[in-house]
Amino acid sequence: MKNNLPLKKNQCLICFKDFNNEISLSNLFSSQKIICQNCLKKFKILNLTCKFNNVETTFLYEYNDFIRKLIYQYKGCYDIVLKDVFFNQFKEQIKKKYKGYIIVFPPSNESDDQKRGFRHIEKMIECLKMKYLNLFYKKSNYKQSSNTYKQRNKIANVIDIKNKKLDINKKYLIVDDIFTSGATLKTIINLLVKQNIDKGHIKALILSKTVHNVEL
Ligand SMILES: [Zn+2]
Repeated sequence: MKNNLPLKKNQCLICFKDFNNEISLSNLFSSQKIICQNCLKKFKILNLTCKFNNVETTFLYEYNDFIRKLIYQYKGCYDIVLKDVFFNQFKEQIKKKYKGYIIVFPPSNESDDQKRGFRHIEKMIECLKMKYLNLFYKKSNYKQSSNTYKQRNKIANVIDIKNKKLDINKKYLIVDDIFTSGATLKTIINLLVKQNIDKGHIKALILSKTVHNVEL
């Protein structure tokens, strides 16, 4: 599935359809168009903001079958061409809303990153052109997807912070791709709070949220 073909301009990054003849929706989405209308429609927009562990958290999309496959193709099949399709539609909104924030993100397995050749969240956020810190690491090769709900809650013991001298005057935006139990997000929040970062200086931006999950 790895795609190394050079893409033409005005060609959908997901289905490769030429969208030259489409009526432009660029007035609605001020970001540059990179996917066709048909693919755009398959993203189920939530754009929902609420408090999670007293941290303002925004969920952009529902985690549906379309986004699940897309994330798998990107993350699991190393299709780096897809890196911009996730946040592009919200790019301008994100840059405005989180102006001055430094992006941080949960770590993936080192071995997966090496195989893949890129850190998936780091590449996803590249299109936002915001400052980011690669702040967290996994203490062991722990696979979240292969564990039960109860075991997932143990993720708190697996993730740790690299740099223990964080600037407490700065604001931090936690970005992640999938929210299921919220265990990872909670862990990242707690690690930042431990470094004396005020919760008022932390926000979270989640690409997709599963429909059934824990209380918010
Ligand atoms: Zn398409």
